[in-house]
Amino acid sequence: MKISKVWLDESTDECTSCGLCESIAPDVFEVPDKMIVKENVDFDAFNAAIKDAADSCPVGVIKFEEVD
Ligand code: SF4
Repeated sequence: MKISKVWLDESTDECTSCGLCESIAPDVFEVPDKMIVKENVDFDAFNAAIKDAADSCPVGVIKFEEVD
């Protein structure tokens, strides 16, 4: 499964700007204020780190979509 899309979901909770995602996957995430997903990233090259960041986010607001 390839990761095709990564985004910040603030529909239920808000990013607390803790910076954990950026420390796990600095090539994918930036936290200047709220988290942003960097542009032009080959998400599949960071597959494990993106999943780790999504699992580790204390408020569960990192979402990703996978395709075959
Ligand atoms: S780990 Fe979650 S709460 Fe922390 S900066 Fe990243 S998106 Fe925001």
